[in-house]
Amino acid sequence: MKTDIQIAQEAQMDKIVDVASRLGLNEDDIDLYGKYKCKISLDKLNSDKENGKLILVTAINPTPAGEGKSTVTIGLSQALNKLDKNAIAVLREPSLGPVFGIKGGAAGGGYAQVVPMEDINLHFTGDMHAITAANNLLSAAIDNHIHQGNKLRIDSRRIVFKRVIDMNDRALRSLVVGMGGKPNGFLREDGFMITVASEVMAVLCLSSDLMDLKKRMGDILVAYNLDGQPVYCKDIEVEGAMALLMKDAIKPNLVQTLENTPAIIHGGPFANIAHGCNSLIATKLGLKLSDYVVTEAGFGADLGAEKFFNIKCRYGNLKPEAVVIVATVRALKHHGGVKKDDLGTPDVEALKKGIKNLEKHIENVKKFGVKPVVAINRFVSDAEEELSFIEEFCNEHGVEVALTEVWANGGEGGVQLAEKVLNIIDNKESDFKVLYNENISLKDKVEVIAKEIYGADGVEFTRKALNNIKSIEKFGLDKVPVCMAKTQKSLSDNDKLLGRPSGFNITVKEVKISNGAGFAVVLTGDIMTMPGLPKVPAANKMDISDDGVIEGLF
Ligand code: ADP
Repeated sequence: MKTDIQIAQEAQMDKIVDVASRLGLNEDDIDLYGKYKCKISLDKLNSDKENGKLILVTAINPTPAGEGKSTVTIGLSQALNKLDKNAIAVLREPSLGPVFGIKGGAAGGGYAQVVPMEDINLHFTGDMHAITAANNLLSAAIDNHIHQGNKLRIDSRRIVFKRVIDMNDRALRSLVVGMGGKPNGFLREDGFMITVASEVMAVLCLSSDLMDLKKRMGDILVAYNLDGQPVYCKDIEVEGAMALLMKDAIKPNLVQTLENTPAIIHGGPFANIAHGCNSLIATKLGLKLSDYVVTEAGFGADLGAEKFFNIKCRYGNLKPEAVVIVATVRALKHHGGVKKDDLGTPDVEALKKGIKNLEKHIENVKKFGVKPVVAINRFVSDAEEELSFIEEFCNEHGVEVALTEVWANGGEGGVQLAEKVLNIIDNKESDFKVLYNENISLKDKVEVIAKEIYGADGVEFTRKALNNIKSIEKFGLDKVPVCMAKTQKSLSDNDKLLGRPSGFNITVKEVKISNGAGFAVVLTGDIMTMPGLPKVPAANKMDISDDGVIEGLF
């Protein structure tokens, strides 16, 4: 079997101007970044073409066995095109941290990939750098404000806005800045986050246009003053310059799949500390340019899909018409207690236990009024009896299921899935609704999600979390959706509880306001905002030869 990068290197790409022209975009609508990448102007957002249909791809709780959400998202867009439908994939941009850390590339896999895969995984069109620069301009301006006399009386012990870099670098998590005496500013504790965990990234992904982005940048809460009052970015007066740095980054990027299906890639917030979906602008543009948009949300449906629905769809007034839940035999066996090294051995008994995880996600998606289809992402090690067991389970539970082989066969391997998705859309079987009203209290919002989505008995708030909530309410910043930060491995907040846990409470340890993005981050554990590299990073296997051939990018 060829590696992902070998398959990607053999791709017969169309010139991006031709891909764009198939979407009705002429040369005035795009900015070229070489022959195979371009940015799309936002003008088409105002086109009077009827919006296309929105399809979300999500998954069961992730396991080390891998699920393949991006692979299925890309494969489904290819399959819809095989059925002569105008479909587009709309995805997140990979972050350099995970690319060089554990995960390697994140542009799909096998015969369902987006290309040019090397560029997409590396610097692409520079959006990550723009976000990093805009973020760090604000950090520099905060420290400079204090150095220049601190008119706002910022309490340097309570600066909540951090510097960022798009790299996994644990040494930068906590540090002291301003060392070296008077010319170098005031000494204070600081730390770096990875760029994709930044509020600037979340702002990009929830803005409706450049002016909205500027306003949201201005609304970022950066610190408290010596009286305990909030200080916003607009008080530091750099939101205009930050928006300026983002003038190109706000435009979605167009590439293609291995089968020349158009794909938009734009924005990539973390799915724990932020909401984990590509930008609202990209999704809306996709809906204007195509009849079907296939998009994905990070991690499992308890985190990614919940936030896609309750945050992104709420802000963008989006109405998803079908949801694909990706499951694999291997991951479900893992949820049934099988160790990673034994996942290749057929074990229907473990599958019977593990499938409870899928069952809960099916119930959850239905709570949003959207009809799900289960996509079994087939691996070569899967036994026939295991595949039939999942199919029978879905049939007995009255839920659509499709065996999906897009990794091995590209679009052809996703035709059955595409037909089932189209059926749901054509028969108008979904009627999307959000799960809670954003005007109820923060505590009530968390409780709804914990009970309805995670299956918890209740929620415990630590003293610190209660104090955080009190302060957010005091400043009138609480009427926003909540962005849950929880382990992705379990439906609960304990990553050891696999399958479908019951009889547990969720503990909320801290609540932070992302006032520019427009959500309250609810932390249920120690959430990593700056990952570290593993013992042998993926970077160690990467190389480039004299003639430009790249290796090891998966
Ligand atoms: P996710 O979006 O859920 O994180 P990806 O689609 O990025 O997952 O896939 C993760 C990895 O798993 C990729 O390297 C991909 O090539 C591989 N993969 C996905 N589906 C399959 C499959 N059916 N068989 C083998 N490998 C697969």
